[in-house]
Amino acid sequence: MHLTGSSKTSYSRFSSWLRCPRLHKYRYIDQAAEERVSATMLLGTAFHEAAELLFRGLKQGEAPLTDEVFAAFDRALVDSIEFQQQAGCPVDFGKSTREELHNKGHEMLGTFLAEVPRDIHVLDVERAFEVELEPGRLIEGVLDLVLEQSGSVLVVDLKTSATAFGEDKLRFDLQPTVYLHGARGLYGKPADFEYWVVTRTKSPRLIRYPVVRDQADHAELIEAVREIEAATALGVFPRRRDWQCQGCEYADRCAGERG
Ligand code: SF4
Repeated sequence: MHLTGSSKTSYSRFSSWLRCPRLHKYRYIDQAAEERVSATMLLGTAFHEAAELLFRGLKQGEAPLTDEVFAAFDRALVDSIEFQQQAGCPVDFGKSTREELHNKGHEMLGTFLAEVPRDIHVLDVERAFEVELEPGRLIEGVLDLVLEQSGSVLVVDLKTSATAFGEDKLRFDLQPTVYLHGARGLYGKPADFEYWVVTRTKSPRLIRYPVVRDQADHAELIEAVREIEAATALGVFPRRRDWQCQGCEYADRCAGERG
């Protein structure tokens, strides 16, 4: 189904629909307050802030001290937990305590700092883009890290994850397709993509996953964005029941609206 006229979406917006259309409705259409927030999500955000400090330092040719990076993580984690608590939004620590979460974050950061390459040429950190996906259809996002290579750029997306990534995600996830398109539009040159994943496993690991996308992937992305627009216009937001329901930010409302 084709829609006419112009439209704009973001990677985070349409990926929330792919995770669960009902959750997407609560977050982006109703703009409902979250009932709870996952502690591991706050850990991931704090981790990004610490890594951003490192990458900005490398860009300026002056890497921050290890203690400064850990301090940035601690500050971001404490601030975000206290912000959520003051906003009346409970932090879901799952089976962990706040102290265990903090310690796991330090283990992950230690692994990251020991293994992340330092001989990189940082072109951009947290670079926003807005590009045309097809005539009349814009998409926006933010690139975590862009490195200069000879004749091309390397887009890096930093993730924290409970486990290593599986083959399905590496083959079909639409984020690399969006970000490669955004980088080519921004820099006007070929682009490659890698996930840098730091695992929350017992012994954290930094795993680099180069990901390749082609024209067929780009066509699939356009198809997905069109279909999500069409479903949204029709008010179609089915529940997608899976393991993610357990920690869902809107689980109570979703359960209350059944039937
Ligand atoms: S509880 Fe599950 S089905 Fe309901 S909104 Fe959340 S993720 Fe979707």
